[in-house]
Amino acid sequence: MTPPEPIGLDAHLTFARRMDRIDGLAHYRPRFIGTDALPDDANPLAYLDGNSLGRPTKASAERIAEFITHAWGERLIRGWDESWMELPLRIGDDLGRSVIGAAPGQTFVGDSTTVLLYKLARAAVDSRPGRTEIVLDSDNFPTDRYVLEGIAAERGLSLRWIVSSTEGGVTPEQVRDAVGPRTALVVLSHVAYRSGYIADMRSITQIAHEHDALVLWDLSHSTGSIPVELDLCDVDLAVGCSYKYLNGGPGSPAFGYVRADLQEVLVQPIQGWMGTKDVFAMGPEYVPATGIRRFMSGTPAIVAMLAMQDTIGMIEEAGIEQVRAKSVALTEFTITLVDEWLAPMGVTVASPRESSHRGGHVTINHPAMRQVTTTLWAHDVIPDFRSPNGLRIGLSPLSTSFVETYDGLAAIRDVLRGVLLGQSGLTA
Ligand SMILES: *Cc1c(COP(=O)(O)O)cnc(C)c1O
Repeated sequence: MTPPEPIGLDAHLTFARRMDRIDGLAHYRPRFIGTDALPDDANPLAYLDGNSLGRPTKASAERIAEFITHAWGERLIRGWDESWMELPLRIGDDLGRSVIGAAPGQTFVGDSTTVLLYKLARAAVDSRPGRTEIVLDSDNFPTDRYVLEGIAAERGLSLRWIVSSTEGGVTPEQVRDAVGPRTALVVLSHVAYRSGYIADMRSITQIAHEHDALVLWDLSHSTGSIPVELDLCDVDLAVGCSYKYLNGGPGSPAFGYVRADLQEVLVQPIQGWMGTKDVFAMGPEYVPATGIRRFMSGTPAIVAMLAMQDTIGMIEEAGIEQVRAKSVALTEFTITLVDEWLAPMGVTVASPRESSHRGGHVTINHPAMRQVTTTLWAHDVIPDFRSPNGLRIGLSPLSTSFVETYDGLAAIRDVLRGVLLGQSGLTA
């Protein structure tokens, strides 16, 4: 028997410490740079933005140094033949197997998410001649909306907007109302970047297919925090970031997924030499490669795709279901603290309360959050701010601890209290 919890102010801290002790993923946290308790307090007190830019792993620091010295420094241009040509596809297969539920040969690491969205969305609408609409939602991430605006202008299509709730997300019913015989393509985020709402990938994909429309899922906020089953959901196309929960580093390239049977049907618009059948033939005209390689364009960013492999390896070892279980426990704990500490100051939860509808982050609203975030950053507590009122708390299951979450929420409470009292914020 464990002794009863002390009642009072520190019950949550006691809980957080106990959760860290029994956490089956706790041994991953020390593998990240910046998680050691340093005497000079150089590390952030709480990093709550791993959903925007994940922490680096110590293994990646070694991997990159090793790569520069040996693979690049010694093998020089021979590296392309020896492994780099295959690396974008090999990492894609690893990611497919351990993180996004995709059989080999359908996933590649390529350009930025924005550029991959363009390439796959353009290929998709061009494969549905005569269809005039792209379905999207009003609260999708800006780049997704902007790219589709551009494609619509370029191809003479119109955008059909689903008005999505900023505290929830797109429902199958809304998609059912929006799709029809005019729909070429539906583009949605699997986990909403603002609210963290998880869209019903399986039902929505099926609804689109009933109308013979294609679906492109943006997995930027789900990859590495919740299980994704692209093959099982019969998804057509997907893209996602690698610098968020995959800890690939600032600007690490995105991945793209094209279902096997669509690969020979779709024609992507940026026809570069790296997507051709025989890259070094330097032939007179573009002949696309068979398979997923044809969705590549130019020379892949090899150095920038090194780090994500370490996190993909950890997820494979830990199991994405375990990652999700910890993610749910972290977001539940966060909501408990918000309800108890922050709600009395007027803070509201702007993410789903039902964990089955909630991804890896929690957004909380209050008119003072812009100022609160600025003060928190100055005190080494790092969530992010989303206009107009939202403070977004990202909880990256492999690197975030329960005590770190406690510390972060306690700091938010103290700073908000300080702001509301017209003071500067944290006390010592
Ligand atoms: C982070 C994010 C992006 C980022 O795209 P980049 O091209 O890497 O800047 C795109 N879409 C969604 C949904 C995101 O969350």
